[in-house]
Amino acid sequence: MPPTQHKDYYATLGIKKTASSEDIRKAFRKLARKYHPDVNPNDKKSEEKFKEISEANDILSDEKKRKIYDQFGFYSDQIDPATAEAAARGGYGPGSSRGATGQQQGAPFDFGGFDFSEEAPGAAGGGQQGWGNFRDIFSGMFSRDRAAQAEGPQPGTDLEYQVNVDFWTAIRGGVARLEIQRQEVCATCHGRGTMGGTQTCPECHGTGQVTQMGGRMKFNIQCPRCGGTGKVQNPCPTCHGEGVLYRTEPLEFRIKPGTRDGQRIRLAGKGNAGLHGGAPGDLYLIIRAGTHPVFMRTGDDIHLTLPVTVSEAALGSRIDVPTIDGRAQLRIPPGTQSGQKLRMRERGVPSATKEGARGDEIVTVEVAVPQVRDERSREILKEFAKLNPEDPRESIWAKV
Ligand SMILES: [Zn+2]
Ligand SMILES: [Zn+2]
Repeated sequence: MPPTQHKDYYATLGIKKTASSEDIRKAFRKLARKYHPDVNPNDKKSEEKFKEISEANDILSDEKKRKIYDQFGFYSDQIDPATAEAAARGGYGPGSSRGATGQQQGAPFDFGGFDFSEEAPGAAGGGQQGWGNFRDIFSGMFSRDRAAQAEGPQPGTDLEYQVNVDFWTAIRGGVARLEIQRQEVCATCHGRGTMGGTQTCPECHGTGQVTQMGGRMKFNIQCPRCGGTGKVQNPCPTCHGEGVLYRTEPLEFRIKPGTRDGQRIRLAGKGNAGLHGGAPGDLYLIIRAGTHPVFMRTGDDIHLTLPVTVSEAALGSRIDVPTIDGRAQLRIPPGTQSGQKLRMRERGVPSATKEGARGDEIVTVEVAVPQVRDERSREILKEFAKLNPEDPRESIWAKV
C-alpha cells in the first residue's frame, strides 16, 4: 500500500516555519500570480502547483488550522486546536519522543486509527476497527475539483481582458479585435470528464486504502479518490478528465463613440464554460484608451494648453484652436492672463451614455514672452514700460 506523502506546506510556499501571517499572505499571492491557470493555460504542471500552493495557504493562513498542522504534520477538521495543544504538551507529534509520560497525559483525542509502528499499517493488524473514525480526515487534502466532478452543474468563471484602443477609436468608435483564451466544454465527453469504464485507482493502486504520515505516526484511511472501491472511471482522453479544454478564440467587438479609459464592457456568456451543464461565465473587457500628444482627455472633456502672444493676450483677439473636430475659433478676451482657462462649450467628446450630450474643450492660455532681437522692439517695450509703471508684485508685498 503506497503511503501518501507528508506535505511540507512551508516548503511549498517557500517560507520559514516562523513566518508571520503577513509573510504567508505575501508568499501565497506572489506564487498564485505566477501559477494561476489563467496565466498558464494548458499547463498541467502549473495547475498542480497552483492547487498545492492554494492548499498550503488554506491551512497556514488559518491560525487554528496551522496550529494543528504544526503539531501533527497534517491537517484535519476533526482535530480541534485545544487538542493539538494538549497533544503538544503530551509529547505527540513530529519529532517528539513518545515517552511513557507523554502517552499517559492522555490528550482528549481518539488515537484509535493511529499505528505507531514503523511498519506499513496493513501488516499491523489489530487496529483495523478504529480506522473508520478517520475515514474523511484527508478528504480535503485531495483535489477539490475531482470531488466536484461527481456533483451537479457548476457555473463557469468570468474572464477579464484589457483592450488597448487608440485615442481616436475611443472617441469616434470603431471595431476592436483581440484573441481570448477560454475554457470550452470538451466535445468528446460533453463535460463529464469520463468515457465510461473503469481503471485501477492511481491514488491507492487498487487497494482502496492509503496511508498517511502524521509525524512519526502512520495510519490508514479509505482512499478518498475512489471512495475505497480501488477503481476510478476512465478519464476522457481529450480533456484528461477535466471536462473542459482551453481554446484560443478571435473576438471582434464594437467600441462605442465616447468610450472612456477604464470602462468595462460585459459580454454575457463569453467567459469560461460551466461544468455539467452549468451556465458559462461572462467576459469583461476593460478599455485602455491611448493618449494624444496635444489633446488630454478627462471623461468627456478635452484639455489643451495653447500658447498666445503678449499682444493677443493683452489686446484680445480671435485665434484658431485645434479641437477633436478640426479648427475652431476662440475669442481671447483683452487682458487674459497666462494660466487662465477658457471653456469651449460642447467641443469635447460625444457622450457614450447620454444621447446628444458632449463634453467641453478647456483651453489653458500660456502667454509666450517674445524674444527681443531688434533695436526697434526694444525701444517700444521700454516705452511701454514707462507708460505702465504699475508693479505687478504690489499685492504680494502688501501681504508679507
Ligand atoms: Zn483509490
Ligand atoms: Zn473530455
